[in-house]
Amino acid sequence: MCGIAGVWNVDDSYNILHDILLGLQHRGQESTGIVIEGFKFLKMQGLVSQVLTKENYINGRSGIGHVRYSTFGENSEIQPLMGLTSKGKFAIAHNGNIPDAKIRMKSLVEKGAVFNTTIDSEVFLHYISLAPYSDPKLSTQWSLSRIPGAYSIVILTDNMLIAARDSYGFRPLFYGKFKGGFVVSSEDSALTALGAKEITEIVPGEMVIFSDMGLEKVKFATTKMRFCAFEYIYFSRPDSNFYYGNVHRARFKMGEILYRESQMTGDIVIPILDSGFSGALGFSLASKIPIELGLMRNRYLGRSFIMPENREEIVKRKLIPIPQVIKNKEVIVIDDSIVRGTTMKQIVKMLRESGAKKVKIGIHSPPVIGPCPYGIDTSRKSELIANQKEIEEIIKEINADELYYLSLNGLKEAIGGDKLCLGCLNLNYLI
Ligand code: AMP
Repeated sequence: MCGIAGVWNVDDSYNILHDILLGLQHRGQESTGIVIEGFKFLKMQGLVSQVLTKENYINGRSGIGHVRYSTFGENSEIQPLMGLTSKGKFAIAHNGNIPDAKIRMKSLVEKGAVFNTTIDSEVFLHYISLAPYSDPKLSTQWSLSRIPGAYSIVILTDNMLIAARDSYGFRPLFYGKFKGGFVVSSEDSALTALGAKEITEIVPGEMVIFSDMGLEKVKFATTKMRFCAFEYIYFSRPDSNFYYGNVHRARFKMGEILYRESQMTGDIVIPILDSGFSGALGFSLASKIPIELGLMRNRYLGRSFIMPENREEIVKRKLIPIPQVIKNKEVIVIDDSIVRGTTMKQIVKMLRESGAKKVKIGIHSPPVIGPCPYGIDTSRKSELIANQKEIEEIIKEINADELYYLSLNGLKEAIGGDKLCLGCLNLNYLI
């Protein structure tokens, strides 16, 4: 998963990219990269605040940026990618995965292409170069129409910025007006915080072109709209808003419906912070079971999923139990999802050690039974606990007293519709 950003025709684009990318930091914490007008670039491992420093300042009025959580290619490679194509210089930042990228890369290499990286996004640069047009805009349109997804991308050339979303709209992308120019971001919340106006969601299958001519919209594929349900469940910021509305409100409803479906009983509801918080609020309101701070979050560690080694140890350091809240209580833990089960196993252990009478688990999404080929890191099938085990076996494995998941229909009801990609939850893969 990644976050992407763009700025067109605004002074001090470096600082604007800094602010947008900081607002998207939850989408990727491995590396930060920007390309500013004239193809001046800065790419380094690390968080936005560590890379986009005062000392590294680059002057310019346009640029694109990327925060990376690698799902394809070596994680030492950093976006945006740049290349001299037959249509001029291009820089590109990509969020999503091209599921058949390996086949596309192989076929390009057989035709003589030389890849600089192992990142799927580089395919776009080769397509643009090979497109049967001399015009960069037409070449981009042609290339995008040939790759079904999954991508939200920003592209910078000598004289334009392009922002585009594949025809399914798996990944989000927005633009807004800012100080006489334009800004682009994966999530609208990062643009709202900046003070951008007229924030607009880019229509799937459309590219928005910012240039000296102003703004132009070009359709390159029929809009299908199958937005990733996991953006609503886990990935995005609670204050972000997509096609079906606000993320916090959707998670809150997931919690409400989880209670309606499960009718779980207990003394207190414990949210797993941060992503389980909104769902726990909804569950608590619907069940009238008070919400309590049973597990505190240590804010000075990153997301545990992203740190590769010894996840049990990381969970232990990240979530700190408050035994005075937990002791002798039947607790209902609410989290957004279980992927491999490592996090929940450790949570149950900590709650039991803190004296919980019973530990019941409520998950405000359906079981994750398949990997995501479209850019969310949900592991291999064999590592997904719900793919390998029945509910009763999972309960045993994580040592809980009860476990309830939200139903698929409950999820759709909470989000507000079914123009969603649910591949990891129902194995119905669109590409
Ligand atoms: P696991 O320990 O593998 O079961 O991971 C589940 C935890 O990781 C949950 O608390 C989620 O909030 C979080 N999570 C779920 N999906 C992802 C993902 N794709 N990337 C990072 N974290 C995730």
